[in-house]
Amino acid sequence: MSQLRERLLAVSRRLIELGLNRGTAGNVSVRDGTGFLITPSGMPVEEMTPHDMVQMEFDGRHHGTRPPSSEWRFHRDILQARPEVGAIIHTHAMFATTLACLRRDIPPFHYMIALAGGDSIRCAPYATFGTQALSDAALTALANRNACLLANHGMIALGRDLDHALAVAVEVETLCEQYWRALQIGEPVLLTPQEMADALEQFKGYGRWKRTP
Ligand code: 13P
Ligand code: ZN
Repeated sequence: MSQLRERLLAVSRRLIELGLNRGTAGNVSVRDGTGFLITPSGMPVEEMTPHDMVQMEFDGRHHGTRPPSSEWRFHRDILQARPEVGAIIHTHAMFATTLACLRRDIPPFHYMIALAGGDSIRCAPYATFGTQALSDAALTALANRNACLLANHGMIALGRDLDHALAVAVEVETLCEQYWRALQIGEPVLLTPQEMADALEQFKGYGRWKRTP
């Protein structure tokens, strides 16, 4: 059994442990050879084995015993449109989903918003789960970003690999909780475009020690 199938399952389990997903909500994919591996549809993570992970081609064909996640279209379209992306996590995490139900973008209330690639985390307009319309809306909301919310649904986090995508998903949920908490007391003070540009610049040198040259 390929190591990548085991990694995909390990990350799916980690999302449950961290409280970022429950039941059969959410799905994960990772680039593999000429296509990608994706979690199966409608299956509780506790029941999944590495064998249940579904191998897909970019033309939509899939191999294996299980049907691929109903969201394979946005996984496929993002991996196709964004060559720098190696893994994708979709969750219904509590705070991200709460804010997505308000259909608002997350503004630059904290400098860590820069980790999502810019000065906001956009919320994609609502579309039925599993549709091409949802994929199109997500791709637009993800322009120049590593993450977006999906209206009345959840969030998507992108990474160069599974570990990176997981770190982005954890950070987005943390930011959504902080924003939600701040909103309970008042209207958060937003950083200026210059302050966000400075934070983005500062991130270019941050954590260099752990990257391969
Ligand atoms: P799947 O079980 O088909 O991956 O669907 C879960 C989900 O989150 C749909 O948006
Ligand atoms: Zn979903």
